[in-house]
Formats: sequence, C-alpha cells, structure tokens
Amino acid sequence: MSGSSARLQAIEAVTTYRPTSAPLSFANVSASELYGSNVFGKSAMKERLPKPVFKSLIKTIETGSHLDSAIADVVAAAMRDWAISKGATHYTHVFYPLTGFTAEKHDSFLSPDGDGGAIAEFSGKTLTQGEPDASSFPNGGMRNTFEARGYTMWDVTSPAYILENPNGRTLCIPTAFVSWTGEALDKKTPLLRSMQALNTHAQRILKLFGHVNPAKVVSYAGCEQEYFLIDRHFFFSRPDLLATGRTLFGALPPKGQEFEDHYLGAIPDRVLAFMHEAERELFKLGIPAKTRHNEVAPGQFELAPVFENGNVAADHQQLTMFTLKRVAEMYGMTCLLHEKPFAGVNGSGKHVNFSLGNATQGNLLDPGDNPHANAQFLVFCAAVIRAVHRWSGLLRAVVASASNDHRLGANEAPPAIISVFLGEQLNDIFEQVTKGGAKSSKGGETLKVGVDSLPVIPKDAGDRNRTSPFAFTGNRFEFRAVGSSQAIAGPMTMMNTIVAESLDVVATKLEKAVGDDPSKLNGAIQKVLEEIMAENGSVIYNGNGYSEAWHKEADSRGLPNLRSCVEALPLLGGKEATELFAKYGVLTERETHGRMDVDLEQYCLVVGLEARTVIEMAKTIIFPAAIRYQGELAQTCAHLKAVGYVFDTDTLDKVTVLVKDLQDGIVKLEGMLAEGGGHSKLDHAKHLCNAVLPAMLAIRKTADQLEGMVADDLWPLATYQEMLFIL
Ligand code: ADP
Ligand code: MG
Repeated sequence: MSGSSARLQAIEAVTTYRPTSAPLSFANVSASELYGSNVFGKSAMKERLPKPVFKSLIKTIETGSHLDSAIADVVAAAMRDWAISKGATHYTHVFYPLTGFTAEKHDSFLSPDGDGGAIAEFSGKTLTQGEPDASSFPNGGMRNTFEARGYTMWDVTSPAYILENPNGRTLCIPTAFVSWTGEALDKKTPLLRSMQALNTHAQRILKLFGHVNPAKVVSYAGCEQEYFLIDRHFFFSRPDLLATGRTLFGALPPKGQEFEDHYLGAIPDRVLAFMHEAERELFKLGIPAKTRHNEVAPGQFELAPVFENGNVAADHQQLTMFTLKRVAEMYGMTCLLHEKPFAGVNGSGKHVNFSLGNATQGNLLDPGDNPHANAQFLVFCAAVIRAVHRWSGLLRAVVASASNDHRLGANEAPPAIISVFLGEQLNDIFEQVTKGGAKSSKGGETLKVGVDSLPVIPKDAGDRNRTSPFAFTGNRFEFRAVGSSQAIAGPMTMMNTIVAESLDVVATKLEKAVGDDPSKLNGAIQKVLEEIMAENGSVIYNGNGYSEAWHKEADSRGLPNLRSCVEALPLLGGKEATELFAKYGVLTERETHGRMDVDLEQYCLVVGLEARTVIEMAKTIIFPAAIRYQGELAQTCAHLKAVGYVFDTDTLDKVTVLVKDLQDGIVKLEGMLAEGGGHSKLDHAKHLCNAVLPAMLAIRKTADQLEGMVADDLWPLATYQEMLFIL
C-alpha cells in the first residue's frame, strides 16, 4: 500500500471510527467486580481450596518457604475446575526467555479416556513442571540445540490467570525456565533469586534495629509505560515499522512537539476508547492500571499501574505490553513500544519506580515526617545510593539495547551517566550527615499561592527532577533509564542484587561495630553513613542532567558515561558482574556470560535487520520515487526548451545530486554489511555501531532531503506528519 492510499484510508478510518464492541458500562459491571476476575488469586484459592492447602500455599507465597509438593495435586484440580468454569480449554506454562519476550506453548486439558471420549486432565505434576522443547531460544552458549531439555517450573508467587480470545480461553501459569542442568534460561529465575538475596540482607539490618520476626522483605516496582499509537494503515505501509518497530526514514514534519500542546492534553476519542478497553482487560487480569495521559510527543501516551511486588510487577508488565498491542489492533491502531520510533520527537521510556519493604515494617524507603531522625530510613536510603554509585556501570548496562541507545547517550532523556537525584530535603540531611550528624529536616512548609479561595496545601519536601536517571521521589527511587520495550525483570534483578550487596556491606560493618551492645548502634550508623557519603556522594547530582556542563562535571567526578551498547554490554559479562552475581546466588559465571552473549547477539541482530531494511527500502521505494520525479522534472525541462523557454534546472540538479548520493550510500552500506567486522560478537557489534549505523544514517539523511523535494503524490511512504497527527 503506498503512502498516499494509506493516508486516505487512515483519514477515513479516523473520521468514521466507531467502536467495534458495545462499550462496557462501569455502571452495570463495576470495576471492582471486574478486577481480578480472570485471576486465580487469593480469593479464588480461598474459595476453592481446602483450608490447610490454602494456608500452606499462602505461606509459600508470603514467606518464600518451600512449596509442599503433596498439595500440588489438590491445587491443580482446583485451578483446573476454576479455569474450566471460566471457559478455558487449554493451559500453558508462560515463561520469559532471554529475548525479553514472553513465551508459551499451549496444551489442551483434554485427554482421551480410551472409550472414544475425553476427560479433562491436569495433575499436580503438570501444574508444577513442564518440559517445552524451547531449544530455539537464545541461551548464550549455555547449551547446544541438541541438548534441548528445558523445564518450566511453577512460580507460586505470581498468580495464574486466564487469557481471553474471541474463540477460546487459556489458563496461563507463570513459570521459571531452566535447562536440564539447572541453569536459568530466563529472566524470572534470576529475579526470584535476587529477591531472596535482597531479603536475606535487609533482614540483617532490620534485626539490628531490634525488629522481632519481620515479614519477608521484597522489592516493589511501579512502571510508567510510555508508548506511541499510530493508525494501522500507516504501520502496514511502512516496511521499517513493520520489520523493526521504528522509522528508518522520515523527514521532520513542519510541526513537531515544540508547541507542547500534546502533553497532558485532551485524549483523542479513539485513543480514549482504546484506553478504556485496555484498562478493562488489565483489570480482569488483576493488573492495577491507575494513570493514563498524553505524553510529550504527538501520538505518545503513558499508562502507569499501582506498584506491586517486583516479581508480580515484572509479569504484569509483560502482560501490559501484550495487552496494549492487542487492544490497539481492535481499534485500528498499532501500539509502538519501541524506544525511538520517530526521530526528532521524544522517545519512550519505562520509568521503574523501585522501593523495598514488607508487611510488618512497610516501605523501608519512606522517610516519614522527620527523615533526619529516621535512622532506619537513612541506612536503607544510603545503601541504595551506595549501590547506584558502586555499580553504576552495571545499572547502565542492564538497560542497554540497540533501541534504547537512541535515548541514552543520544540527545535524549535521561543521560547515559547514572547519577542520583535526592531533592532538597534529603540532600540537606545527607550533607548534615557528612558534617557530623543530621539535626533537622527542612520542610513542613505550606504552599502560598496568593488566592484565598484555594486550599492551603503542604509543600513536598523536595521538587522533582525530570532529567535524572535515578531520582528519589518521596518514598521510592525512580529508575528512568529503562526502555519502553524492555522486560523489567533485568533491571529489577540488577537493582535487587546491587542493593542486596550494599545492605550486606552496611550490615557487616554495623554488626561488627555494635557487637552485643545495642547502645552502640546510633554511633555506628553515623560512622557508616559518613563513610558511605564520603565514598559515594559524588553520584548525587541535583542539577540539569541534560546540560553539557554536567557531562564535564561527571567526567571529573569519575562517573562512567557509557554511550552505547558496545561500551555498556561488555560490563555485564565482566569480572565484577560475574563475582557479584555469583556471590549473591543470582547467576553463575556461565549464566552471567550467557546473558551478555545473548544481549550482544540481540544487538547485532537488530542493527543487522535495520541495515538490510534500509537498503531494501532505499533501493525499492525511495530510489524509484526519486527517479520518477527526476524524470518528470527532466521531461518538463525538455518540453519547455523545445518551445523556446528556459527552465531553471535548480531542483533537477539538486534531485540528481541526491539520487547519486543515495546510490553511493547504498553501495557503501552494502559493502560494510558484507564486511562483517571481526570474529567475536563484540567486534561485530562494534562494527555495526561505529560503521554500519552511521552509514544507515547517511542514507536516511539523503532520503529525508528527497522527501522534502519529491512531489507529494509520488512519495510512497507515509510521512511523519501523517503518522503522528492522524489519529
Ligand atoms: P509520575 O508523577 O512520576 O509520572 P505516576 O503516577 O505516573 O508518577 O507513576 C508513579 C509510579 O510509581 C506508579 O506506578 C506508582 O504506583 C509507583 N509507586 C508509588 N509508590 C511506590 C513505591 N513505594 N514503590 C514503588 N513504586 C511506587
Ligand atoms: Mg508519569
């Protein structure tokens, strides 16, 4: 479909849009009734399981104790009956391979009964363990394709749910995926291991503070998901979007985001209808969608749920991305989760709000009313600051991907330099700490606006800073460098692990200093806090993270600035990372290396695909359009000349030069792709990053100039203006 017909059809689709299904009235079915209706959660379990079985299961979920295998059959039968009562015919073990996607292989509940009929079967063993072949997933050299055996194992801590399709329903069971040798082949296993490590060391701190029997400490995650929506006609008319998820060509439209009229603007009707339905689907799955709004770029939106336990949030995030994509289709749109689908306007991130806590002590990063006197908070907060500084390279590396490279390190938020924003109040407190001890907390003020009828509201203790990659926002840290398309399991695993390490170091020091005498605790804390700030204070930056000045300053502070995957990814397989992960039982050396290998391979695959798409589009779409226009100009020229006019050949000259540039650019890029560049994956990635990407960009530059000259009716690709504004 050429751009011009796609354009007409998209306009038609927008102007004649009617919802396909009758809108759900929350007056008839309340949101609370809908919420979790497709989840085998606590209430469904309580209703359907014998009391002792229910209790045992909840114990495993809440305390992390061993799952009693004797109860598996009972749970399986209850789960099966529940699923069948909801119309499910199939079940699947859902797992999360290293690609960052979600994988599933469905089985029917039915088994032949030997008499020509069939019965519904689902045993404890089928619930707890599966064996998908799954040998085609990348494993970073951890196994050969002929060593296909891999197991999925039921993750009791993440609830099973039902996925609906117009033609049927499937029971989905979240699982961990490991090889025959027990190595993690997925993103969930290390996440669960890292949560365990976090709990172990957080408990040591809680014990120092004298808490008796604190509940299991977990990390929490609340993810703000940014995404673009475009009309599907445009999506299918652009081979680059279809194949790679981003536009590899496209001149900037006359109007971009400079008016700032999209951000938090009124949500277009079709989009709002989509959001309602997407949220309804999320509610059914027990995903607490909370906030929705227009984002900065035209066509860009955001959804944020209420935060949850990090493991559940990670699974829910995968489901959220899937749901957004699926529901967008129903509304004639495509949801683009790519970090940078359009050049020249903002890209999309996924801010991961991170905290840790438990049922007995609450949020351990909550400063309370008098943070300076809240020693426990200061210890946990300082441990996070230390972790971010000590492991800033790894924190950067864990969000490195070909697509996120267009945000981090490019002229986009947030910068690739990992720093911590604390805000005025906390910054002041930690400064007091370095000077011998915190005596007071700023704040407690009220906001004065000068209008008597407006309510008096308390002022937050600190302002926000949108440019910081790791910002304290009141009772949590917001990790803003995560990419919109990424699985959060990786970043969560990293944050859990580095915070566990930090808590370990802090706990060891405190335990040693305190010994058997609790009265020594306060003095010991002051000393440890001082040390942490002296060694790690350089990571704190409260200014403008986009500024050139900060780049210089960060350099002088010795903070790493890893601009691309080829700089960042090797760290993931380096000695430091290997030792860290091994020490906290999160990943073995082989698993760590395997992961870096997969990430590098993914990088090479993505950039390679993009380069091949550039070549094909340049050759078969852009070049033909350009020479058609060139031909028209030449013909006009010849005709005018024949009747005695002089025709200014300026445009023809320019087009001719650009056509030549385009051809040369293609030849150059083809040569570079053929070259390959080195034997190792890293060498290949470097070649792609340093030679192939710039060559692709050069072709784009030429093509975009042509787009600005060639007659609109001859231009075959949907334009930025169309894609971003016709919605
Ligand atoms: P913002 O103002 O940063 O755009 P949003 O309301 O869009 O805020 O998103 C904030 C996210 O942070 C939500 O997902 C919210 O549930 C989450 N959040 C709030 N408190 C915590 C916490 N203690 N730990 C983790 N996440 C939290
Ligand atoms: Mg937000």
